[in-house]
Amino acid sequence: MSATTAAVHDAACIFCKIIKGEIPSFKLIETAHSYSFLDIQPTAEGHVLVIPKYHGAKLHNIPDEYLADILPVTKKLVKLLDLDVDGDLPGYNVLQNNGKIAHQEVSHVHFHLIPKRDEKTGLIVGWPAQETDFEKTGKLHAKLLEKLNQE
Ligand code: 5GP
Ligand code: ZN
Repeated sequence: MSATTAAVHDAACIFCKIIKGEIPSFKLIETAHSYSFLDIQPTAEGHVLVIPKYHGAKLHNIPDEYLADILPVTKKLVKLLDLDVDGDLPGYNVLQNNGKIAHQEVSHVHFHLIPKRDEKTGLIVGWPAQETDFEKTGKLHAKLLEKLNQE
C-alpha cells in the first residue's frame, strides 16, 4: 500500500475494506474519488451507497474534491436505476447521516440513494416541524450572518 493510500484509509473500517477489495461488494460506479455499491440491507430495490475514497466519519472530515465527485456520480446512478423521471413516481431520496444520534451506523461517510416507488418501501421520514416563528428565525439569521462576516 502506498503512503497516500494509507493516509486516506482506516484499516479497521468496513467501507475502506470494500474500497480496497478486501471484502466483496456489488460495485456500480467507481471513480478516482468515489466508490458506489448496492446496500446489502436495502430499504428498497436498488438502494445504493456512494462513498468517498477517503476515510472520515462525518461530512466535515472529507476534503472538498472527494465531496465534489459524489453528486455527479449519484446523478448517474439515478439514471441507471431509471429514477430520472419528471413527475411524482418514482421518487428518490439522497440521505447522508452524521453521528449515531442521526442514525449513522458505519463511521465512514456515505450517501444513500434510495428509490421511493411506493409508500411502504424506501425512506420513511419523521419530520418534527415547528410552528413558523419569524422573530426567532430572524434572530438566528442575524447571528449566523455576523459569524459569516467574521470569516
Ligand atoms: P447508516 O445507518 O450508517 O447511514 O447506513 C449504513 C448502511 O450501510 C446501511 O444501510 C447498511 O445496510 C449498509 N451496510 C453495512 N454494512 C455493509 C456491507 O458490508 N456491505 C454493504 N453493501 N452495505 C453495508
Ligand atoms: Zn473508512
